Amino acid sequence: MRHPSILSRRDFLRLSALAGAGMMLSSCGSPLEDFSDQETETLRRLVLLYTNDEHGWLEPSGEAGGAAGMYRRWLADENYDPAGPNIALSGGDLFTGPALSTYFKGESTLDVMGAMGYAAAAIGNHDFDAGVDVLRQRAAQAGFPLLSANLRQKANYQTPDFARKYVIKEVNGIRIGLIGLTTRETPVDTQPHYVADYNFIPYEDALREVVPLVREEGAGLLIVVGHICASEMRLLAPVAAELSIPIVCGGHCHEEIVEMIEGVTIVQSGSFWRNYIRIALLFDTDTGQMLNIQASLQPNLAGREDARIAGRISGWRVRMDPAMLQQIGYAGQMIGWNSGEMARLLTQPWLAAYPTAQAAIFAPRYVQSLPPGVITPASILSMIPTDNRLIEMKLTGAQLVHTIEERQSLYGGIESAAEGYVLAEGSPLEPEERYRILIPEALYYGGNYYAVQQYDQEGQDTGLDWRTPVIEWVRSLGTNRQDPLERHLGL
Ligand SMILES: [Zn+2]
Repeated sequence: MRHPSILSRRDFLRLSALAGAGMMLSSCGSPLEDFSDQETETLRRLVLLYTNDEHGWLEPSGEAGGAAGMYRRWLADENYDPAGPNIALSGGDLFTGPALSTYFKGESTLDVMGAMGYAAAAIGNHDFDAGVDVLRQRAAQAGFPLLSANLRQKANYQTPDFARKYVIKEVNGIRIGLIGLTTRETPVDTQPHYVADYNFIPYEDALREVVPLVREEGAGLLIVVGHICASEMRLLAPVAAELSIPIVCGGHCHEEIVEMIEGVTIVQSGSFWRNYIRIALLFDTDTGQMLNIQASLQPNLAGREDARIAGRISGWRVRMDPAMLQQIGYAGQMIGWNSGEMARLLTQPWLAAYPTAQAAIFAPRYVQSLPPGVITPASILSMIPTDNRLIEMKLTGAQLVHTIEERQSLYGGIESAAEGYVLAEGSPLEPEERYRILIPEALYYGGNYYAVQQYDQEGQDTGLDWRTPVIEWVRSLGTNRQDPLERHLGL
């Protein structure tokens, strides 16, 4: 699997091998080079601060310091000033995550990032999760442009009104051309029907088309801000080198990387504001030459927070509907995102709410673990942050088993037994017989590489939001410390 999760998996983070002089990971404690002693009229420095896949993790969680912790660090360690010589950039997937972001459909996240002085962000696949109209609102709300050079309207090849292919920013005397890229996986990694009107053209084609325009407008230093994975960035490096683009920033796969390939610096910060990438450079504005560049991954461990940004974040929490924060149950143990307990926590309520269906399937990749402690409607929103209605469709027993096994789906209403699968009442699942199955709409329409619609074009929208039955079911159990949720899930 290329990227096992959208949201919260630490287990697939890979630290890649380091290559190239001046590249380092986590230079904790060592002095941060900023080339300030080498500046002249034409030799100008820049310190780029980069994050990707923030996914709305505004508040500290576990070891990560959140947005206010990050901002405090930038002020303390970087003398951060958005007017220069700093520039803060994001690689996209700004929202879809904890309830504090998802409840406001990303508005809280964009507000905080604007206050942090971000200069631009790439459009990520999950930035489409609340639909194009919401993304258009986010773009209008953001104090910075949302970039994608390879996102095109199918009808006319134009860039949609909520996006810009590139933007030029002058920082500390350097005219910087920032070019956005959006993952070509977007049609299978958001609600597919939300992006049906768009093409995501090859990255190389987009760069070859856009770079001359950016140069024409006088940009000296070109930077790609891409919601693209390390494997794609490495393939793109020779093209970037040919086009004299010295920096390619990425995202989407939540990787922590700092590399140099063919003279192109390639970085990704992981996710959730757990780290940021720092790139200090010295640029000759006369000749367009990069004289020095040093990139590193800096941790954002939980600790002190900037009061202004923290206040802004808590202001959003206050604006949440109090009903979202009312206790509906209690978990004594974590319910893991890819567990049999999670399968039961979702599918039992769905099948109870829609009893004509015989089984239900979903992709664990769109689920976050439910932490132990008090459960609220906000906990369920954080657990399944993408919007989905449940579709009822028909699959033969063979098609159902194939889908479960090929896509590593979680399921309910059937159980695997020694002889194959059996239905809840104990009869074996027959390969040729057709069964009524509940499935989230994103998967029915082809998300996460599901290919079930071909078996039944007539899937019925049940009108059921996939969270509502889960919230009601958890509430109905009346769980507490003495009788925690996991006891009702077979733990
Ligand atoms: Zn992504």
